Amino acid sequence: MRRYSGQVPLDAWFHRVARRLQGPSELLSCSFCGKHQKQVKKLIAGPGVYICDECVERVHGVLTSSAGTASTPFAAIAQVSDADVTLQCTFCGKRRQQVAAMASTGHAHICTECLDLCNEIISEELAGGSAQQTEI
Ligand SMILES: [Zn+2]
Ligand SMILES: [Zn+2]
Repeated sequence: MRRYSGQVPLDAWFHRVARRLQGPSELLSCSFCGKHQKQVKKLIAGPGVYICDECVERVHGVLTSSAGTASTPFAAIAQVSDADVTLQCTFCGKRRQQVAAMASTGHAHICTECLDLCNEIISEELAGGSAQQTEI
C-alpha cells in the first residue's frame, strides 16, 4: 500500500470519479419537450436524438392539424415547409423532399415515416407493459 506524502486532493479526486460515474447513468431526455426518461412512459432513441410518447402524439397533431404548431415547455414544434427541401429527419436522415411531412423544433426534426414507426413501437410496448428505451 502506497502512502502519499502531503495532502491528497481528495475533493478533486472525488469530483472526478463522481463525474465519471454520472456518465452512463445520466438520464436521457426527450429532444422535443425536455422530459427525462423517467418522467415519460416511453422514450424512443434515434442517433443522438430522443422523442417521448407524449411528443409523438404532439407531433402527430402538428402534422395533421391545420394550425401546424404545438409548444412544449422546452421548444415549439412546427411543420417544416416544402421550401426546406434539404432539411433532414434527425431520426432516419431522409430529406424533406423525400417524405410526405416533417415537423421540427429547430434542432430536432422528425418525418412522418419515423413518427408512424414510433407510434407502432409505443402501442406495441405499452400493450406489453414495458417501459424500456428502444433504438430505431
Ligand atoms: Zn417529449
Ligand atoms: Zn425520419
